[in-house]
Amino acid sequence: MTDEFPEYRGQLEYHCLDCGKLSGIDSLLYTCPECSGTLLLRDKNFDALKKLSGAQWRDIFDRRAAEKSILGRGIFRFYELMAPVLEKEDLLYLGEGNTPEVEAGKELSEAVGLRFAYKNDGQNPSASFKDRGMACAFSYLKSLARAKGWDEVLTICASTGDTSAAAALYASYVGPPLRSVVLLPQGKVTAQQLAQPLGSGATVIELPGVFDDCMKVVEYLSKHYRVALLNSKNAWRILGQESCAYEIAQWHDWRMRGLCVFVPIGNAGNITAVLNGFLKLHALGIIEHLPRIFGVQSAHADPVYRYYRSEKTAVFAPVRVRASVAQAAMIGNPVSFPRVRVLAERYRRLAGEKSFQVIQVSEQAIMDSMLQANRHGHIACTQGGESLAGLKAALALKLISRSEYAILDSTAHMLKFADFQNRYFMDAFDPEYEVKAEQRLVNAPLSLFSQSQKETWSEEEYIKIAGRGIAGQLGLRER
Ligand SMILES: *Cc1c(COP(=O)(O)O)cnc(C)c1O
Ligand SMILES: [Zn+2]
Repeated sequence: MTDEFPEYRGQLEYHCLDCGKLSGIDSLLYTCPECSGTLLLRDKNFDALKKLSGAQWRDIFDRRAAEKSILGRGIFRFYELMAPVLEKEDLLYLGEGNTPEVEAGKELSEAVGLRFAYKNDGQNPSASFKDRGMACAFSYLKSLARAKGWDEVLTICASTGDTSAAAALYASYVGPPLRSVVLLPQGKVTAQQLAQPLGSGATVIELPGVFDDCMKVVEYLSKHYRVALLNSKNAWRILGQESCAYEIAQWHDWRMRGLCVFVPIGNAGNITAVLNGFLKLHALGIIEHLPRIFGVQSAHADPVYRYYRSEKTAVFAPVRVRASVAQAAMIGNPVSFPRVRVLAERYRRLAGEKSFQVIQVSEQAIMDSMLQANRHGHIACTQGGESLAGLKAALALKLISRSEYAILDSTAHMLKFADFQNRYFMDAFDPEYEVKAEQRLVNAPLSLFSQSQKETWSEEEYIKIAGRGIAGQLGLRER
């Protein structure tokens, strides 16, 4: 097995979650051609994977983890479970996947009241989990362009920031015939998130409005022009993002009993992938138990929470979003909601009502939690703060017990969201955010003297004055 490319090939097809229609993968589809319903990719051969036992699969994946090839290093370690129609030459690797889980230290876990770890998906190449999905979607695009002999493929996406950063990165790596265009809501992405696609050489178009507006324009374009859409409507992205679930399972040696996974929900692609990933592992006997999944939403963008709160009435209504520090999840009409509904039902049938829940948190709790985590050695983004806020809320609501172990998805790197940290430290949030600085979490650089003072001193005086100033400030004792 080692070092050889897997022999297994799947027969992937698009499966409409609304009418059940199956469509071939030789063309790009984002919605069902029959009923415009939502699609997921399904492997018609999946049952053939059951010829191996769960233990044999665990062994294959564990051995692959040590391989010095693309199969060992990134998301394609789980090739058979994701996109087993791609050839070796199509697979892309930019360092995505295989991200660490970092356990909270004693002080932090005691403060929260439970042992937990951060899954640091900010340690992906464009610093968010979106790279998992893009590695898979772009590998497929590459294979499609090759098969069809296309001389130009324009890839397009709407974004709250990270999707475009990832799409632009992968497009620039592959090069022609791929070209990347990204649509961003003007003034609604951080400086870092804007810098990323610009640096990758993508065409960046800013539109007034919020993400949901940009998404409608992208849908119009993909309906009327030949473009490849890279939002999570693209089911190939979901497949790649399933790798997050596979990695969590492998990290815990495939033993899932007592584990709870917290995932921030925006467009709901990530939670779709996490649910589907664990369901596949379970179907093959690779894991015996399904971990419990908690989706987390801000009160300023919470359509999925509202649906599950009032499930009995079973109507889904988009919400108008309000300003959110969890900007990457600030989405009022999540494209993948129909996928979540189907998968969550399946999940609950197997693991009980409490195996999938959605929690609502405040903007204040998101910021406070992010800063608290990062003061204890983590690198959580605001959405990672949202995950921790969700864990605290779940504890307060007694939805989780202290004997369980939580894995919090930090979906991006904190540096992308440094601007929110700054606004907090300066207590300068616009009122619509509803975030006030708590002094115990505030930090700011200390300034001891000015440039003009420095100019009046010799170098020797400068060192002495600065040294004494610092010692005084810190209360250092002389030795
Ligand atoms: C995209 C994104 C989310 C939301 O994920 P969905 O798949 O849209 O639900 C959360 N956090 C970060 C950092 C993101 O980039
Ligand atoms: Zn359909």
